[in-house]
Amino acid sequence: MPKATETTLEIDLRALTHNFQYITSKLQKGTKLMAVVKASAYGSDSVVVAKKLEELGIDYFAVAYASEGVILRESGVQTPILVLHPQTINFDKIVQHCLEPSIYSPLMLDRFIAFAESENLENYPIHLKINTGMNRIGYSTNEVNFILEAVSKTKAVKIKSIFSHLAASEDIENRDFAEKQINDFKTASEYLMSKLDYSPLRHTLNTSGIFNFPNAQFNMVRSGIGLYGFGNCEKENKNLRPIATLKTIISQIHTIRKGESVGYNFGFIAEKEMKTATLPLGHADGINRAYGKGNGFVTIHGKKAPMIGNICMDMLMVDITNIACEEGDEVQVFGEKNATAEEFASRIHSISYEIITAISPRVKRIFTY
Ligand SMILES: *Cc1c(COP(=O)(O)O)cnc(C)c1O
Repeated sequence: MPKATETTLEIDLRALTHNFQYITSKLQKGTKLMAVVKASAYGSDSVVVAKKLEELGIDYFAVAYASEGVILRESGVQTPILVLHPQTINFDKIVQHCLEPSIYSPLMLDRFIAFAESENLENYPIHLKINTGMNRIGYSTNEVNFILEAVSKTKAVKIKSIFSHLAASEDIENRDFAEKQINDFKTASEYLMSKLDYSPLRHTLNTSGIFNFPNAQFNMVRSGIGLYGFGNCEKENKNLRPIATLKTIISQIHTIRKGESVGYNFGFIAEKEMKTATLPLGHADGINRAYGKGNGFVTIHGKKAPMIGNICMDMLMVDITNIACEEGDEVQVFGEKNATAEEFASRIHSISYEIITAISPRVKRIFTY
């Protein structure tokens, strides 16, 4: 990569390939891998990432919303795409673009069947989401008979998969909870399957689930964060490579005298003479205001420079008193080396998922193939 000359998010597709291969190595023979590419493939670029994963032989994609699936279809992605949160208003968009809805409640099922029948569809693939304890979206396990009744009365839809989601798959100290979820999922899905004359796919593991519950792969698993380089624990972080590096540059350097303030509302007052650097990166780029007042930091020539004062919309200031640097020099915010996104986010009690998906479209994405 050449040195950054503006704020850029570098996406390394070689790291994506590495992570894909590592996750695949954890799968039993025949287990399919669904890549979760919602939220622009966790803040990177869903089209570029999906195309690379298709090249690598991915089995399935998942997105959160229909519009995310439409973007993939319109750029030529052919692999099946599950829409996790389809919403009634998007049914026509979903069908037009061969997207497959997650059906998570009796109401959704009735509405989707009515829509599919009105469009004269046959065997349209749907995915049944079972709630086993996350209590977000999903059928409760005692509602499965409603599903069977509704599905048996129509030819318009066919159950392509049955799935659930673990609430704390990374939390080793509460393994019991995930194990109970897995058991309840097994019972409910087996009951459903015993009443059908075909076998849908079954899946319940996300990235940490793949690492921590290898016996619960059923015949598909879903990975998001792992593909982007985080394993939610030290051991697995070492086996993965973050694909995204956020870089910026120094716009201006100031010498601040003792007692002077920096930025809005006197958010920082110099206790001694010091040097500050202003960076072209702010809360409109996804750097939460909570990183200000010394909480967040960037890395300049391998040294940590704390963010001082209040983060502005388009800029932020860092303390470079002890760092030899010049205007125009490259600055790393997070990446594979120095601070990872997970370490960076931990400064404001946040997680890798939040910071990488927060980087706004204003930040230019560049790719290494
Ligand atoms: C986002 C999401 C995933 C991906 O989880 P990771 O921890 O990123 O692997 C899997 N399943 C569902 C239902 C999700 O919403």
